[in-house]
Amino acid sequence: MNDCIFCKIVSGEIPSHKVYEDNWSLAFLDIAPSSYGHTLVIPKDHFENIYTLPDETLARLALTAKKVALAVKNATLCDGVNLIMNNEKNAGQIIFHAHIHIIPRKENDGLKLFPHGSSANEELIILSEKIKEQIKD
Ligand code: AMP
Ligand code: ZN
Repeated sequence: MNDCIFCKIVSGEIPSHKVYEDNWSLAFLDIAPSSYGHTLVIPKDHFENIYTLPDETLARLALTAKKVALAVKNATLCDGVNLIMNNEKNAGQIIFHAHIHIIPRKENDGLKLFPHGSSANEELIILSEKIKEQIKD
């Protein structure tokens, strides 16, 4: 993927503030952080989103996210971390190279990620059946 910014970060063509690297994954600081210590974890190979990530790559990515989340927490002395993955434009994905955001949180930091709605039990029963029907191996 020649025009992918994150592939260029992997190859070193574009500079980044790397904090961790192994054979499969790379973690670096977000250039426009939502909070102090906002870090991105990406697979080194180009995959667009979670739908196309091979299982092993996703597993490696999750392990790196866990390792880096703890390091970010200890380094920033934050009170919590959100791990977020935006998949597709309507979910807020801007860079179409799969990545997990690690966002450090502080008490009363004012960041609002997801507003909560309400739902009827009947609706949840129908919806859970619809999703179950779509679960693939
Ligand atoms: P998303 O909206 O999930 O696609 O997130 C893309 C993230 O990449 C945003 O938080 C951007 O601030 C971040 N970003 C874009 N370009 C760079 C870059 N060159 N180095 C580090 N982070 C970047
Ligand atoms: Zn890429």
